[in-house]
Amino acid sequence: MNILTLLLALAPVLTGPDARLQVRIDDSADQLRYSIAYDGKTLLEPSALGLETNDADYTRLSVVSVDTEEIRDRYTLDRIKASRIDHAAVRAVLHCQNPAGRPLDIEWHLTANDAAFRYLIPRDTETGSVRVLRETSAFRFPEGTRTWLTPQSHAMIGWKRSKPSYEEFYTLDAPLDARSQYGHGYTFPCLFRVGEDGWVLVSETGVDSRYCGSHLSDWDAAEGYTIAFPMPEENNGNGTVEPAFALPGATPWRTLTVGADLAPIAETTIAFDVVEPRYEATHSYRYGKSTWSWIVWQDASMNHDDQVAYIDLAAEMGFPYILIDAGWDQEFGHAGMEELVRYARSKGVEVFLWYSSSGWWNDIVQSPVDIMCDPLRRKPEMRWMESIGVRGIKVDFFGGDKQETFRLYEHILSDADDHGLMCIFHGATLPRGWERMYPNYVGSEAVLASENMVFGQNHCDLEAQSACLHPFIRNTVGSMEFGGVFLNKRLNRANGAPGRGGRVFGTQRKTTDAAELAIAVLYQNAIQNFAITPNNLTDAPAAAMDFLREVPTTWDETRLIDGFPGKYVVLARRHGLTWYVAAINADEKPLALDVRAVEARLGGTACVLSTGKDGLQTGPAAKKPLSIPKDDGAVLVIR
Ligand code: CA
Repeated sequence: MNILTLLLALAPVLTGPDARLQVRIDDSADQLRYSIAYDGKTLLEPSALGLETNDADYTRLSVVSVDTEEIRDRYTLDRIKASRIDHAAVRAVLHCQNPAGRPLDIEWHLTANDAAFRYLIPRDTETGSVRVLRETSAFRFPEGTRTWLTPQSHAMIGWKRSKPSYEEFYTLDAPLDARSQYGHGYTFPCLFRVGEDGWVLVSETGVDSRYCGSHLSDWDAAEGYTIAFPMPEENNGNGTVEPAFALPGATPWRTLTVGADLAPIAETTIAFDVVEPRYEATHSYRYGKSTWSWIVWQDASMNHDDQVAYIDLAAEMGFPYILIDAGWDQEFGHAGMEELVRYARSKGVEVFLWYSSSGWWNDIVQSPVDIMCDPLRRKPEMRWMESIGVRGIKVDFFGGDKQETFRLYEHILSDADDHGLMCIFHGATLPRGWERMYPNYVGSEAVLASENMVFGQNHCDLEAQSACLHPFIRNTVGSMEFGGVFLNKRLNRANGAPGRGGRVFGTQRKTTDAAELAIAVLYQNAIQNFAITPNNLTDAPAAAMDFLREVPTTWDETRLIDGFPGKYVVLARRHGLTWYVAAINADEKPLALDVRAVEARLGGTACVLSTGKDGLQTGPAAKKPLSIPKDDGAVLVIR
């Protein structure tokens, strides 16, 4: 050990490419710890590193040496918030050992605003595989830090015992020591505000068939939050909660995105920077917009006439896809579906088909069932889909975060790619870098999505608030299959026409049409299943339908203009030379949007879609800032 290495070993400081981000490593106590500062302000206090396997205890580590190298994250990706990523980064490897001399590396990846780490376990003995019993990685925030979190649910509850499925409410601006709703901690990503010093988003990425999905524990006064593994009750109690992999091997990445403001959090690509494609695509995939009857017309729409109406709606709108949801097999059978797909394709519309994941982990009756969980049935089914020209699948109701569920996702994706099928997952876990890892992966639900607005008025009441959360939390780390953009006022087929006894049924949308159009830009998913209905061709503003014909679903660049989680957001996304700026206000205080200033910042002239006294209006920017009340929004199209 030379002197430099020795000095480093005492208290190495890892520095991001622009030196504002610093990770301080300290092994002077009996446990290896890291802390994070940005612009000299502490955003994370000394927090534990380490893990324990069935073969070795790495919870007490000392640093032997450090290797640091400057690199560039440079890649293209056609279905996240940006198309070309090219930024400086620092890769550092802490070579560590435990008191028995067993080696372990901790790999760090630092960008200007991200710090990610993972554990690399070598094969240093005869042992060729390990089971990870626990991970001690912790996140200890300074006192007074506020939180924006969503809880991990109990297992085997909810619709047909299909949870946990990342479909829970957020608690906004809560203290660190608030208990989670179910007592199981919080699912990723997790957002924190450290006083006036900055913001931190904690998540994980790179989880595949070789590990389980993790979440954060409840707050512990001594350790902070720690990495928590799945609960034994998930997957109907079947399958291990202790992930296992072959040696040499690695854990997934734990990621922290930090900034003085929220822009680095809304713009981060760390979930994709540190992962690699798991296989080469065997087909090419095309993204775009889609219609689906189930969201508003529900189960009763699974019949020939209604599906044709939605195929025709897609054709009329120039959308390339239709999603045919649950129950199609019972209504049409495979032979009938061949005919329907032929009709859709004759209109220039390609088809996605719904499947339940099924298996031994839920009570789902929505069909088709028990095909996607079973390779002996899945493979011939996918051959059939390819033979009739189906382009993708939506698989619903997965069983939790155990490693075996991550194996199922990966096996479905891999088989689907053999047959040119894109994959959408619902009732599902958070995607963790999957857009880069799996070439035919599109997006996942993992959010209280549009269906809840049909089921319950409280979700309509909260729509604007949710829209002002997701760009900073759920949707910033992965594509979000929300299935929204309603233009009906009532979220049912009658859309306000009186039913039985002259009563008007259905939940009532609280947002304006302009806010719904903003959501089309705000929520990022390369395939957008919009919740428009055939009647919107005649009863929605023509400018709204024209905008939905035009709006892209893939983006070259994303920039946060302004916002605060749960209160308001102004987010800009660029497609080619055109900027689309989405603004939504969820706060009682009107949002003042200075369109001229946004034009100056992005360069160009805006066409503004906003709410006038007669509803949706379009026109150039006014001199005065636009005043956007609660539940309203605006879209700027800047060329
Ligand atoms: Ca769902």
